Amino acid sequence: MSGVRAAAPQLAGLEPYDPKYLPAEAFLSANENPTDVDAALRAEIVREIRKTALNRYPDPLANDLRDLIAEANGLDRDQVLVGNGGDELLFDLALAWGGPGRTFLNLPPTFSVYEANARLTNTAVAEVPRRADFSIDEEAVLARVAAGDIDFAIVTSPNNPTGERAPEDFVVRLLEATDALVMVDEAYFEFSRRTMRPYLESHENLIILRTFSKAFSLAGVRVGYVMGSPGVIRELVKVRQPYSVDALSQAVARVVFANRASFEPGIAAIIEERARLTDALRTLPGVTPFPSDANYVLFRMDAADEAWAHLYERGILVRDFSHAPGLEGCLRATVGTPDQNDALVAGLRDFVMGRC
Ligand code: PMP
Repeated sequence: MSGVRAAAPQLAGLEPYDPKYLPAEAFLSANENPTDVDAALRAEIVREIRKTALNRYPDPLANDLRDLIAEANGLDRDQVLVGNGGDELLFDLALAWGGPGRTFLNLPPTFSVYEANARLTNTAVAEVPRRADFSIDEEAVLARVAAGDIDFAIVTSPNNPTGERAPEDFVVRLLEATDALVMVDEAYFEFSRRTMRPYLESHENLIILRTFSKAFSLAGVRVGYVMGSPGVIRELVKVRQPYSVDALSQAVARVVFANRASFEPGIAAIIEERARLTDALRTLPGVTPFPSDANYVLFRMDAADEAWAHLYERGILVRDFSHAPGLEGCLRATVGTPDQNDALVAGLRDFVMGRC
């Protein structure tokens, strides 16, 4: 037979996720850590990988890694689940808590993957847009959950791409106002140094997402985890792919997590550079940076798409959100090394001065 039946209807009009990765000298578009894992730790990773059987399936639940994460967070193994990057766990969440007849509450502008996952799983999306300064419209969120139809919500803290963290008292009020499962996406929490972890015992409807991709320099390896109540974790285990975290990724993540203290100076340096970059952006005429608790800074300016192209010609890749709903005129720059940040500011200065 020639031809092929159409794919599932929910795919119509859906664009695949595109990180818009292009060759560049300075990658400031994907919120990665500018510093790779250092040589000493790499040597330890290699030793661990040498011991890893390649002919055997990995531990399906990555229990050794789970135990390390659980212990560090004062939890039991059954309160932690490891995934192939946070992305996989976000999809698992939509599979387990979404679906036809179910509703997801989103607070845009935020990480676009949430909404895509809802659409893929035929989950209805309810939205409470952020205010003009990107703060959460807290009363509107609480009013929306009061309707009683929300099955799960995601609060991103710090939010991507806007940068600010969610106020802790608001998240507590939300957890108490609804029995919906509330995920707090803490992919960038190491840069805000704030976590909802203390509320896990008291709030069964809280689940926290973390990743190894940012503070721990492992975006290339694909490991993330969630922490939640055993009942919630059990449901997620039902939908996950059995061997999604391969043996090599488990080995790398174990070594890195056991040595996580060694990443602390790098994190502190990024936090310092974030302040320096934000201040420098603020000095540029017509450029308005938004305060950030993460490892990136969102800024708004005229002709942002032309500025993006100008930077790219200079080898600097930032993320262009200038035509994204709610983010008009905005670019997002990952905090890079001091040299990269200087080059970014110089490139932007050159652009805005050229337009004066
Ligand atoms: N949540 C947020 C807010 C993110 O920005 C990202 C990465 N872009 C993720 C989750 C997923 O990260 P990863 O799959 O690399 O763990």
